[in-house]
Amino acid sequence: MSEKILVAGGGGFIGGHLVQRLLDEGHQVRSVDLKPTSGWYQVHADAENLVLDLAEKGACETACADIDRIYNLAADMGGMGFIENNKALCMLSVLINTHMLQAAQQAGVKRFFYASSACVYNGEKQTDPNVTALAEADAYPAMPEDGYGWEKLFSERMCRHYREDYGLETRVARYHNVYGPEGTWTGGREKAPAAICRKVVEAKLSGDHTIEVWGDGLQTRSFMYVDDCVEGTIRLTDSDIIEPINIGSSELVTINQLTDLAAEIAGIEITRNHDLTAPQGVRGRNSDNTLILEKMGWEPSIPLRDGLTKTYNWIYEQVTAAQG
Ligand code: NAD
Repeated sequence: MSEKILVAGGGGFIGGHLVQRLLDEGHQVRSVDLKPTSGWYQVHADAENLVLDLAEKGACETACADIDRIYNLAADMGGMGFIENNKALCMLSVLINTHMLQAAQQAGVKRFFYASSACVYNGEKQTDPNVTALAEADAYPAMPEDGYGWEKLFSERMCRHYREDYGLETRVARYHNVYGPEGTWTGGREKAPAAICRKVVEAKLSGDHTIEVWGDGLQTRSFMYVDDCVEGTIRLTDSDIIEPINIGSSELVTINQLTDLAAEIAGIEITRNHDLTAPQGVRGRNSDNTLILEKMGWEPSIPLRDGLTKTYNWIYEQVTAAQG
């Protein structure tokens, strides 16, 4: 059934892909972002596109008017280099989700999705690169990523209490590293897959095949292609799963393996230069998909090689266009 849907943060990476999918499904979509539309990764002509600061309660009321369902993806965030150096700024996103929940409840919105993060998980469970995958219960006792992770964990609980106390049907996903085209690839907020693709493209174009890698490269992560993220987000919001749930890939790689895969896609040999002083985040992190498989019978499954090839090709176009 067609609904009127608000995507908060629709000018961002995941939001832009989600808006497209919802339009394809025949919904009416209102896409809202803080940035002027010239800075949106995707502007969909068939959506209602609004520029509003959703940290302001009045702006949230405007955004929520006549809306059936909300996907709240708006947040001030970036890769590890950004979140380690901007903790207060990341925590200010609490204003967005708080005002969005208040406005949604007042407007009689039926369903509310919140994009949380694997950064809510207790840091002490992520000190080993041969990590045991993180299951949902591992968020407590709480010791999340400082700044960004604390805000996410608080906002998760706010969603829970809006459901329990006011009957707003909230759904919460803990995304694990999302990557793909039409996202941040330069400027300091980009995440590892985009940063590594960009460095490999620059190496290929310049002929200097030495690449700087943050840390010793032995830190492990899993990376989810954006199409899987959008699919999981919609499935979760449609579901009756009321607890926060992992939406992430369980294909674990080291950062060195990720770099080598990007080089293989580019068709070049590279030399890695490790910057041991750069921000690295936790030592190892993977998504335990037991719960999502049990509850949904589905998990993100697009192979890293396939997703990274699409991402690399898109970043190649961006770099060559920027170089003129
Ligand atoms: P993004 O930065 O591309 O998108 C977020 C958007 O929110 C941006 O376009 C930004 O302008 C907008 N925004 C920020 N402050 C706003 C405000 N006050 N009012 C309106 N809009 C505002 O990030 P993304 O990668 O698309 O992430 C979307 C969501 O998913 C975020 O909540 C993020 O924390 C979460 N998440 C992402 C990842 C990932 O790997 N990309 C992982 C875990 C969680």
